[in-house]
Amino acid sequence: MSLVDCPVTYLEGDRYRGRFAPSPSGNLHFGSLCTSLASYLRAKQNNGQWLLRIDDIDTPRIVPGSAQNIQNTLLAHGLVWDEDVFLQSEQIPRYRDVLSWLESQQKVYRCNCSRKAIRALGTNYTGVCRDKRDVTAPYAIRFKNDLAITEFEDVVQGMVSIDQNVASEDFVLWRRDDLVAYHLAAALDDIEQGITEIVRGADLIQPSACQLNLFRLFSIPSPKYLHIPVAESKKGFKLSKQNHAIELNNQNARDNLFYALRFIGAAPPIELRTASVDELIQWGISHWRVQMLASSTAILLSEIIDNKEYIDSIS
Ligand code: GLU
Repeated sequence: MSLVDCPVTYLEGDRYRGRFAPSPSGNLHFGSLCTSLASYLRAKQNNGQWLLRIDDIDTPRIVPGSAQNIQNTLLAHGLVWDEDVFLQSEQIPRYRDVLSWLESQQKVYRCNCSRKAIRALGTNYTGVCRDKRDVTAPYAIRFKNDLAITEFEDVVQGMVSIDQNVASEDFVLWRRDDLVAYHLAAALDDIEQGITEIVRGADLIQPSACQLNLFRLFSIPSPKYLHIPVAESKKGFKLSKQNHAIELNNQNARDNLFYALRFIGAAPPIELRTASVDELIQWGISHWRVQMLASSTAILLSEIIDNKEYIDSIS
């Protein structure tokens, strides 16, 4: 495949650029604070920039006001981003251009299988529409996943194997409700913003394979990946918006940061319980090291935090 006329451009540089990319489907919870804190500390320790991208493309899931609440919460916790906030909703024409180019290169195809029909196949989507002609609307647009990435190196988790069904699936780039799909938007924006390391929750480990596929397709050097354990209130029950995790209380920013530092493996001394937000952040920049992170995909809050009242206030 030739990359002539490919509309994907890469912001090349030698500076570390990290990002935090929340979806505005609710405010941040303690788990998202741990991710944003680790991501921020990595950027600052590497003399780099830390960007804020708002993933506001899944319009049915947007909660009005939450993009602003997320920004207020980050600021209340001393996590100040560089550059303007990057809104995915403002990038749609660029995503469409790339999609048209992929169509012109025959790297994608239309699929009008319903979720029910895909479930009936037993596993993941098996590519049944690849050779169909004249697929009627509404249809999704799927990527011909011929590379099928099966593993990648993660800074914390080590060599990660991708589940065979995920690795080989022709994933969706454009949804049947005419919205851009997460993988396409995320990969294109990480390229556009010149992100050199992606720090995010371990619940997104497996989908990384899809995004790596797109980096390879566009011959862009892939960023490093660093997936941090997700916080669980009970075994198998991660803090998430879907699980109705409690929103962070900005009045408690100092406690939240103290415990988030513990969650990412640092051992803040007890004197820091009375430190200011800025002091906690500065302490994190000087003392936390990425090697302190557990190489597991989930950690029970009760293993890290010995304050039951606090756990109940965040989960
Ligand atoms: N917006 C995604 C989420 O909140 C994260 C995207 C990413 O970090 O790649 O789950």
